[in-house]
Amino acid sequence: MDKSSNVKSIKLKVAEANQNDVGKGVVRIDKASRDKIGVREYDVVELRGRRTTSAIVRREFPADSSKDIIRMDGLIRTNSKTSISDNITVKKAEWKEAKHVTLAPVTKGVRIHAPAEILRSIFKNRTVSKGDFISTTNVRKPKDTYGKGMMYEDFFQDMFSSSFGLGEVKIQIVSTSPSGIVKITDSTEVELLPESVEVLPEKDIPSVMYEDLGGIKPAIVKIREMIELPLKHPELFDSLGIEAPKGVLLQGPPGTGKTLLARAVANESDAYFISINGPEIMSKFYGESEQRIREVFDEAEKNTPAIIFLDELDSIAPKRAEVTGEVERRVVAQLLSLMDGLKERKNVILIGATNRPEALDIALRRPGRFDREIELHVPDTEGRMEILQIHTRGMPLAEDVDLNKLAEITYGFVGADIASLAREAAMGVLRRILPEIDLDEPVIPKDVLDQLQVTKMDFDNALKD
Ligand code: ADP
Repeated sequence: MDKSSNVKSIKLKVAEANQNDVGKGVVRIDKASRDKIGVREYDVVELRGRRTTSAIVRREFPADSSKDIIRMDGLIRTNSKTSISDNITVKKAEWKEAKHVTLAPVTKGVRIHAPAEILRSIFKNRTVSKGDFISTTNVRKPKDTYGKGMMYEDFFQDMFSSSFGLGEVKIQIVSTSPSGIVKITDSTEVELLPESVEVLPEKDIPSVMYEDLGGIKPAIVKIREMIELPLKHPELFDSLGIEAPKGVLLQGPPGTGKTLLARAVANESDAYFISINGPEIMSKFYGESEQRIREVFDEAEKNTPAIIFLDELDSIAPKRAEVTGEVERRVVAQLLSLMDGLKERKNVILIGATNRPEALDIALRRPGRFDREIELHVPDTEGRMEILQIHTRGMPLAEDVDLNKLAEITYGFVGADIASLAREAAMGVLRRILPEIDLDEPVIPKDVLDQLQVTKMDFDNALKD
């Protein structure tokens, strides 16, 4: 008899992770579901979507009890090839201790030099399989002590006791020995390839996830409904006899995450993504702008489901009243006719971005064109807190850094400002320790890496600039 058939499995609905869980390889499952499959907190579960992966089980958040959901971050969604709201099969995992794992950076052109012992200590207790993506999120000693018996604190202290540079680095598991789900332990030999290798086809490489966007939850809900749903299930719209949206207009001040949101929805709905930048198109020579737009539509139709992102749409299609040149008129006409032509095929969607919606040609806003709108706002304190968490995710923060306080004093900052604040603070650390680094050494020693800490002072200095 097949032994695995004795193992109970359940189906749960995928939901997004809480910001604090991102990059940690954990899923949250409620008690009833944990009992059904016989797992306890910190056990390992096997997750089967369109791909199989594993994760460590944590208890649910109080608000989620007896909801049949499983919370996981974008990396685990990529590893299991699922998206939010999909059903996923979950059961207690059978895993072996890893003798050897080979890792490589995910991003082409990124080289990592790190002693194997650091990587081993960062990923200790994690379970992985060939092809999985993991990330080097650093964790500050959390103050809450979850669960009985094993303390949350001890667990993660142990799991992430070493810091790893100043940023979040995505890493792929190139191979493991033995194969299947393996756990990294103190005796695992960890090998790091300096450069990325292709383990899975390019399209699967995780880029922007919904958890990379802070302070815009309502916009994420809307964009999923307007874009992810019709791209993945056009039949729903057919059977209801309603038209799936063709064009969605994202509006909001610069740096609030319009581009990021478009990339995230493409990535999360497994859609091909092509972007056209307004001013760049308009600077083409006579006739070339229209040709370029046609090429982009062609490319999208050959690679469905696809999203065409038109950044700075107001410069491609300004109000005709404002238009002086023949070129603009022809480009708008071309865009409109290509959009109208898309009606028959349901799986190409346009996302236009603008910070001047009032400057757009009204013909673009007619039904069947950019007839849906999503507005992004300058974030409030809570939004800024989320964005700060996102952009310090990979950073070893010193005890004196109070993100809540930073969120309060950064009034008026948009996402892009907060990203550059975090980057500047980290650069401050590098400047401070640079004299101690021997740049001729191929690998920076662990004791120097351990000293890397972004302090309150680094943020204060960055705020002054
Ligand atoms: P827009 O397209 O609205 O001008 P972008 O999406 O290009 O803004 O944002 C620029 C950068 O600022 C992003 O790459 C990201 O680092 C940061 N950023 C902007 N908005 C957010 C957000 N809501 N959450 C997290 N980061 C953000």
